[in-house]
Amino acid sequence: MIIVKTREEIELMRESALIVSKTLGELAKAIKPGVTTLQLDKIAEEYIRDHGAIPGFLGLYDFPNTLCMSPNSQVVHGIPNGEPLVEGDIISIDCGALKNGFYGDHAYTFPVGEIDPETEKLLQVTKESLYVGIREFKANNRVGDVGYAIQKYCEAHGYGVVRELVGHGLGSKMHEDPEMPNYGRRGKGKKFVEGMVVAIEPMINMGTHRIKQHRDGWTITTQDNKPSAHFEHDVALLDGKPELLSTFAYIYDTLGIESDEEDEFRQEALVL
Ligand code: MG
Ligand code: MG
Repeated sequence: MIIVKTREEIELMRESALIVSKTLGELAKAIKPGVTTLQLDKIAEEYIRDHGAIPGFLGLYDFPNTLCMSPNSQVVHGIPNGEPLVEGDIISIDCGALKNGFYGDHAYTFPVGEIDPETEKLLQVTKESLYVGIREFKANNRVGDVGYAIQKYCEAHGYGVVRELVGHGLGSKMHEDPEMPNYGRRGKGKKFVEGMVVAIEPMINMGTHRIKQHRDGWTITTQDNKPSAHFEHDVALLDGKPELLSTFAYIYDTLGIESDEEDEFRQEALVL
C-alpha cells in the first residue's frame, strides 16, 4: 500500500533528505587516496548526530555501520573497513538519516583522484539515467515508466541494469511501497499518486547485470568484477510533477562542479 504524505510531512522529509545531502558534501571533502571507508563512516555518523538526526542504516536489518560503502565492483551494501582507498578507485556511498520520524536516503558514486575514462563514463551515464527516471515520476505515469526509461538509457550504452535490487517508497519506514525497479515496461505497475515519496536509485554495471552476494551476508558485487555505479535521490510527487527533496549541490560545492541538472525538478530555488 502506498502511504501518501501531507505537505507538512513532505517538508519534514526534505529536512531528513538534506541532512543526508550535507553529509555526502562533508564526505566529498574527505575522499582521497589513503582514507579508509571506516574513517569516512565516522565522519558521517558524527555529522548526522550533530544535526539532530540518527544514522538511518545503523542497525537497520542489523547493518553494522552508518554508510554502505561499495568500492569498484561492489554494487551496494558494502561494509566500511580499514582498507585505504587508492587513486583510480570509485566508491559508491549510500547514506540514510532519520529525523522527525522520517527517513532520508541517498547515494552518490565518487571518483577517488583520477579515474579512467571508461569508468568516468559509467558514472556519468548512471547519474544521467537517474534524472531520466525522475522525469517519468509524474501524474498518470506508472512504476514501469520510470524503470523502462532508466533501463533503455543504460542499455543503449551497453551497461547492465541490476535486477535484484530496486528503489522504493520512502517515509517513516526506509522501505515502503512501491518497489521501484530500474527496469520495466511502459504503462505497467502501480500508478503514481500525488503526495507519494520515492527513492529512485539506478544501480548500473559496466558489464553484465548479474551480481553475487558475499559470505558476509551484505556485500553485493558484479559477477564479472567490472565496476558498478549507484546514484539515488528522494523525490516527492507534488502538483503532478517530480520535486527533488535531496540534492547533490553540497557535493558539487565541495568539488567545484557547476551543474543545472536538478533545476527542472525544483519548484523553488535551493538555498545552500
Ligand atoms: Mg540508499
Ligand atoms: Mg534507497
